[in-house]
Amino acid sequence: MARSTASAPVSVPLEESKAAYLALKAKNLSLDLTRGKPSPEQLDLSAALLDLDLSGSFTSADGVDTRNYGGTDGLVELRTIYSELLGIPVPQLLALGNASLAVMHDVVVHALLHGVPGNTVPWHNEQIAFICPSPGYDRHFAITEALGIRNIRVPYLPDGSLDLAAIATHLQDPDVRGMWLVPMYANPTGATVTLEEAEQLMSLPAAAPDFRIFWDNAYAVHHLSDDEPGALDVLGLAAAAGHPDRPLVFASTSKVTFAGAGVSFFGASTANIAWYRTHAAVQTIGPDKVNQLRHARFLQSADGVRAHMRKHRELLAPKFAMVEQILASRLTGHARWTQPLGGYFVTLTAPRGTATRAVDLAKAAGIAVTPAGAAFPYGDDPDDAVIRIAPSFPSLDELEAAISGLCDCVLLAEAEAAVEAAAEAA
Ligand code: PMP
Repeated sequence: MARSTASAPVSVPLEESKAAYLALKAKNLSLDLTRGKPSPEQLDLSAALLDLDLSGSFTSADGVDTRNYGGTDGLVELRTIYSELLGIPVPQLLALGNASLAVMHDVVVHALLHGVPGNTVPWHNEQIAFICPSPGYDRHFAITEALGIRNIRVPYLPDGSLDLAAIATHLQDPDVRGMWLVPMYANPTGATVTLEEAEQLMSLPAAAPDFRIFWDNAYAVHHLSDDEPGALDVLGLAAAAGHPDRPLVFASTSKVTFAGAGVSFFGASTANIAWYRTHAAVQTIGPDKVNQLRHARFLQSADGVRAHMRKHRELLAPKFAMVEQILASRLTGHARWTQPLGGYFVTLTAPRGTATRAVDLAKAAGIAVTPAGAAFPYGDDPDDAVIRIAPSFPSLDELEAAISGLCDCVLLAEAEAAVEAAAEAA
């Protein structure tokens, strides 16, 4: 991930930025940059999924009648496709329901109630904690927060890489049982874990024998450039490091086919998969195999997924390029931002102490932006600086208006803060 750099901010004069903001407000916009949703055009790329006629051909490759109960591991042909994409052997990769977030939630609940391989003491017996690289995915942090687990904020380093030294220190605490991580094109920083970082994460000593990394590879195939790196063999790295049970891998087709109406995947060591099967068997008699069959027939192969994702890229890349172009022309010297090579988000780092104000100003001008602080555990950004931009859903015209309006808000918030600081200093 490349990052732009900012020199010491010199704010635009208050009157000038106020006038720009009033002109923005007068436009009466109603635009939304909040969530990373695919646009209608992206969803149309998978329209054929709904046209597939399965009547008379509803049997899977290994002879399962997809219309009936059973087949709790999911359809083998779809697992085979994702096995190649995620670098996980088919027997260790399950195809499940419509949402990977629900699987993550269930895994945490099962661990709280029953413990995990390596330590069968239920997690809820102790005051446990999760490491949360921040800024990160708000819904990850919400799961652990809602289930009574303490979230520990571990800021990314200024170059966008993981702070492995801080993580190593936290791992000396036996209460630390988990860590959230989006290893490719992270939400929202766009950061991708390197092989060296992954090796270290898998080998770091941990005081808790049952420490797990929730390796949420939601954006494994969501490249925005010609560089299309494959997923790291995280299970192989973990096994080689002597911690085969450490990573729990999640993914889904939510941003490949239909968001919330796709298929999720769970990959892990043989012991973790057996553990998950035991608890999932109480919960369900099997996933929606008809939807899985549709997906297998539509996507066809790992190469089929790659080709399909290039069509997404054609729609998404111009939006990211437009965000970059507007931010560079309006905010250079005032803020910094990420230039992701994949995924769904741009992280804008406004001057310290101004993000909440900028987001409020944007809201008042009809531009909905994810609340400042949302990407941090407990909604607390200690610098009040990070603003998450999700460019996928709006049209190019809407996006242009929204980002340029957001720039007006960032500049006004900065100018107000500068005036306040000058008044305090006087
Ligand atoms: N993980 C990450 C990192 C995400 O950004 C998202 C969607 N915003 C999800 C998971 C949700 O995935 P699903 O639809 O499979 O629940």
